[in-house]
Amino acid sequence: MLNMFDPIQLTEATEKYVCRERNGTVFRRYWRFRGGRWYGGIATADCVGCNLRCVFCGPLLTFMRLKDKGELRSPSYVVRRLTDLAMVRRYKYIRISGGEPTICFDHLIEVLEIAEKYPFTFILETNGILIGYNRWMAEELSRFNNIHVRVSIKGTSPEDFEKLTKADKKFFKYQIEAIKNLYDYKVSFHPAVVASFSDNESLNELVIDLKDIHPSIAENVEIEYIILYRHVMNSLKKNGVIPKKAYNTSWELLDEDMIRRLINENS
Ligand code: SF4
Repeated sequence: MLNMFDPIQLTEATEKYVCRERNGTVFRRYWRFRGGRWYGGIATADCVGCNLRCVFCGPLLTFMRLKDKGELRSPSYVVRRLTDLAMVRRYKYIRISGGEPTICFDHLIEVLEIAEKYPFTFILETNGILIGYNRWMAEELSRFNNIHVRVSIKGTSPEDFEKLTKADKKFFKYQIEAIKNLYDYKVSFHPAVVASFSDNESLNELVIDLKDIHPSIAENVEIEYIILYRHVMNSLKKNGVIPKKAYNTSWELLDEDMIRRLINENS
């Protein structure tokens, strides 16, 4: 396939417009603060910018490419919005989502430092590329007792990864490296695998690879199937990619034929 990109280079390019240093503090662009039902209730700050271009990400992806979207926010502002929401709604969890939180890593670290003073667990949802590429990031994260990292592995093989993210397949391995690094530095984490586009054999092989790092990691794998929101279906159709399994918005798990029908009817 042509023109697959390098997510490390894309990180650097993205940081130029979503991060800004002011008087020693790194601000990051955010486009929304919201509550949500995931994890039994979680306050979420949606950041701008990602270093992948997943075909199932839908309009967020377009949004993330726009340089002037969202507002630059300081770490203290982000924590205040998250903790206010969490307190009012009695959530136990807070997170940064919407884009890739490890971009502007200094900003993330300051958010975690401030969030440590509050009684909430910070869920760090990441694609793992940067934590795999920069082992020192896992070491930095190991300073915090209030975090749990969810590494969402895109696809089950380098080929799947390339098809789904449009990033060069050689970067798939950094997601696995992230798991190794987090394990080595004893950071609380679990792997999730976007398995919507993969066959069982390939999924089993990935789980065996994770088991080689440590059996407990394989036991805690979360299998992730995408949800067929309208914008996701539009994006899948545009990219000519049909999942093998996915949820409809009523949380029914559909097979490939049902998904194809649904996409043709609704997108
Ligand atoms: S890694 Fe997540 S935020 Fe980034 S493009 Fe993929 S689905 Fe979207």
